[in-house]
Amino acid sequence: MGAMQIHCADVVHGLSVISRVEATHVWAQGCPHSCSGCCNQEYRAATGGTLLDVRDLAGAIAARPRTRLLVLSGGEPFGQARAAASLCALLAEARPRLGVVAYTGYALEDLVHVPHARELLEYVDVLVDGPYMADMPADDGVRGSTNQRVIQVGARVRASTLGRPPELRFEFRTVRGHLRFIGLPPQDWRSLDDPGAGAPGVKTSREAGRDAVHDEGGRRDEDHSS
Ligand code: SF4
Repeated sequence: MGAMQIHCADVVHGLSVISRVEATHVWAQGCPHSCSGCCNQEYRAATGGTLLDVRDLAGAIAARPRTRLLVLSGGEPFGQARAAASLCALLAEARPRLGVVAYTGYALEDLVHVPHARELLEYVDVLVDGPYMADMPADDGVRGSTNQRVIQVGARVRASTLGRPPELRFEFRTVRGHLRFIGLPPQDWRSLDDPGAGAPGVKTSREAGRDAVHDEGGRRDEDHSS
């Protein structure tokens, strides 16, 4: 396998609001869709982000023994299906039991027209498909909107085990000096002085009593709640 690269908007290791196990999230940079209310606007452009060597990224994920899940979202991970499949193939060798959850703005039926999508699907255990629709918000901690489907594809992680604790809707992190969220924030979160605080029904990971989370440097993440 040659030196393949994957164009990432971000990579965050640590706990996830969509699972109760430790996960690495990889956000692909670039997206051909134009969902109304997209909350990852900055990940849609073909420019920006960082090109990462797939082997290096796989090694960094495999080196974290507590990590049990890879979450591919974006952006559109199937827009880089070959590189994402390569990442998954390397992880399948190094960590055969590591599960893969992938998000896509395509319907599963339409992925047959997307180059290399079948290669990536071979490694995906749970697929969340379809465009995000802001006027149909989902509250299960896995989907962004209720039109999306949670499809069991593989066997390493069961779709029924995904989902956040009821009191934890999203996590705020500081990653390399930037504030970012994981999960679905309230629509007015950008106007909050103290993101995560004051939003009805919202608790951060610390408030929810979850384990401490660490970024890639092993530093404890800042919690932006009060
Ligand atoms: S698929 Fe995701 S990143 Fe792309 S437009 Fe829709 S919500 Fe935004």
